[in-house]
Amino acid sequence: MAYCKSCLLREGTFNVRLDGNQVCNYCRYYKDYLKITFNLDDAKKKFVDRMNKIKGKYEYDALVGVSGGKDSTFVLHQLVNVYGLKVLAVTYDNGFLTEFAYRNIENLVKKIKVDHYFHTPRLKAQKEFYKAATLKIVNPCTACATGGYFLALKICHERKIPFFIHGRTPYQMFSTMYEGTDDPFLFIMEMNLQEHSFRKIAGVYKPIHEHVRNYIKNLFNNDQEANAVLNEFFLEGSEFNSAFAPESLAYFLSHAYNEQKIKRELSDAIGWIETKNDTLLSHHDCAIHDAVFYLFQQLGDADLLEPEIAAILRMGDINRADGKKMLENARRKREKPYESIKSLCQVCGIKEDEIEEAVNSNRLNLSK
Ligand SMILES: [Zn+2]
Repeated sequence: MAYCKSCLLREGTFNVRLDGNQVCNYCRYYKDYLKITFNLDDAKKKFVDRMNKIKGKYEYDALVGVSGGKDSTFVLHQLVNVYGLKVLAVTYDNGFLTEFAYRNIENLVKKIKVDHYFHTPRLKAQKEFYKAATLKIVNPCTACATGGYFLALKICHERKIPFFIHGRTPYQMFSTMYEGTDDPFLFIMEMNLQEHSFRKIAGVYKPIHEHVRNYIKNLFNNDQEANAVLNEFFLEGSEFNSAFAPESLAYFLSHAYNEQKIKRELSDAIGWIETKNDTLLSHHDCAIHDAVFYLFQQLGDADLLEPEIAAILRMGDINRADGKKMLENARRKREKPYESIKSLCQVCGIKEDEIEEAVNSNRLNLSK
């Protein structure tokens, strides 16, 4: 097996291709395009220009999705206490939030002093979404990640909030990017660097919405179920127009990401206490997390964490020895998480042998 000499991704997994110098297509694209284009100083100027232009024109300046994790909490804190924005904080209640998570979120929004509510989609549509994503592509996270993201834009549109500002880390954002990637988030991120214009945003977001709606529609075997989910979570592309089009802004495209600094600042500002699982790459308080990672390994000889670890290494934020150790740990065979798989079956209303069937029909030959 051949490895990229810079980020240690393996050829044949995750569309990795090595050149004659043993450098992969992700590393090349990062060096030749991403690193140059997403320049922090330029991006920050664009961010500040946007806030100055829009501030106070609408009931809320921005919407922030709050998961209870440190990154989204930090973004919320910065926007409210440093930028002085009027923010609506929303937590997507996916049905997996623990009592601890509820209390933690209620506590932090009280300390930051921001309007907040838990958004609960109609249960039936939510369940159908998880079921379709699990049985069709063995990836229930699609329902949370894609659903939650586009739901935020839908809420922005309905409440006339011009920005949805999220706290995805640079590693998460760049982990899927290589030359020719079909990741629609690249176009959304590139828009963050342009002058703000509803007309331009509408022009870019409209086809992305059509594309993602079609992708989601294809997860379903019947149009009625598909439409119930689409109506609950997604705008129609045509709802974006030059009079008003909410924009998704990546806070950490325009502000440096430093995990230790984030924790320190949150601890000083709102008495943030680090929870056991709140480290980089952890996804706390999700009952089906272990099942998702286990099932991905079952699909092929690769682990879901690899691209993100490789991105940290590529961006020079850990040393090679530590990165190598993290990758080796991630590649170790995961034990079957019975409880988590049971939760997934409950959430989707399906049986375990249906999941097994889905794994068999999705098994990828990643070494091909
Ligand atoms: Zn590489």
